Amino acid sequence: MIDFTLSDSDKDILEQVRREALVTRKYARHYDDREEELPPMALPEASEFPNLLERVLERPAGDTGLATLQMLLGIERSWGDTVPLRFQRTALGNAALMAAGTPEQKARWGKTMLAMAITEPGCGSDSKAIKTTARLQGDHWVLDGEKIFVTTGIRAEGVVVWATTDAHAGRAGIKSFVVMKGTPGFEITRKEKKLGIRASDTAAISLSQCKIPRDHLLGGDESIPKQGSGGFRGVMKTFNMTRPGVAAGGIGKARASLDFATEALAQEGVTIDWECGRNARSATCARLIQMEADTEAATLATLRAAWLADVKQENNLEASISKSKGGEVSRSVPQGCIEILGALGTSRQYLLEKWLRDGRITDIYEGTGQIQRLIIARTIFGYSSAELS
Ligand SMILES: Cc1cc2nc3c(=O)[nH]c(=O)nc-3n(C[C@H](O)[C@H](O)[C@H](O)COP(=O)(O)OP(=O)(O)OC[C@H]3O[C@@H](n4cnc5c(N)ncnc54)[C@H](O)[C@@H]3O)c2cc1C
Repeated sequence: MIDFTLSDSDKDILEQVRREALVTRKYARHYDDREEELPPMALPEASEFPNLLERVLERPAGDTGLATLQMLLGIERSWGDTVPLRFQRTALGNAALMAAGTPEQKARWGKTMLAMAITEPGCGSDSKAIKTTARLQGDHWVLDGEKIFVTTGIRAEGVVVWATTDAHAGRAGIKSFVVMKGTPGFEITRKEKKLGIRASDTAAISLSQCKIPRDHLLGGDESIPKQGSGGFRGVMKTFNMTRPGVAAGGIGKARASLDFATEALAQEGVTIDWECGRNARSATCARLIQMEADTEAATLATLRAAWLADVKQENNLEASISKSKGGEVSRSVPQGCIEILGALGTSRQYLLEKWLRDGRITDIYEGTGQIQRLIIARTIFGYSSAELS
């Protein structure tokens, strides 16, 4: 049975994250205004808080599953800001490594911060259309191509690059490769400038005759039985865990917006009566209650996707449902709160307008809302991607 009741130690951890989130808010506007500046790996106040990772790993057995707790922490952190109190030394490429790497590769790069580069100037949602190539030359792979919008691309120590080994083979030809910074032929060509999440560094990368050792193919050598899981399907498993995490980020922005709107209304003497019947509610009150309900639904969908991972069950469908719902509330709730508050909602004196901009990405990266709904429909009705695309 699913039970999301938190133990006292988990409540205590979440309470610490809320206090940390309030600290990060102090830096929100600074890094939003100065996108060219990289926030530090740890904010000055970080030393005032116990190490959260250690606290999480030392929890008593029987507490909430790790994946579920991570979602709650993600919501809470994002409620604060995009600038974290401490950067974790992991990024999307690390999740790919854990999903598709061999035990040897996990041991080798487990502590290396890895970004992931799929998107190219000519391809986004349709990732099987990538043009970056990988050619085997003796004991090396040679990579050529352009990648854009690589999250953590500036800060990461290496990048998991998707490339095709056979342009005519579609998905079957796509493999992923670990490319370390400093490899000749690997170049960061620019830092992207964005609508929101400006504290998150996003890079464009060029690969020109970039030669990497043969064993940098994620999942190991294709010709060895039980290896070679780094192909398209293997690496796509990455997203079963990371999509709920992206949803959690969007839900945090929706929650922050709702809290801000409720407080701003209270200051004007407008309180939300949760008990009165629907016919007695003002339009404002009804709208806020609807947004609360949508946000709660997105939260429960996200926790369910993570809980399935905790109990080692398949969660592909639920991961997409959570991402789709999280993407929806991260757009509709900050927007709805601005509608209710009017000009106040757009003022740069407050963070609400920023949450609208920061939340927007939830419904774009790691598969847009439309793509999530395609996956949901395919899974429920049993269509292949060729039958429903
Ligand atoms: C801030 C940021 C960070 C990012 N980080 C990364 C990263 O770390 N690594 C990486 O590889 N990429 C990253 N991306 C890229 C992101 O994953 C892509 O933008 C996303 O996959 C969509 O691709 P696209 O922008 O080319 O849009 P397109 O694929 O061109 O889509 C345009 C529109 O068409 C819709 N659409 C497309 N195909 C279909 C379909 N079959 N049915 C219905 N509608 C469809 C889409 O939903 C969208 O609304 C990032 C992007 C941003 C903005």
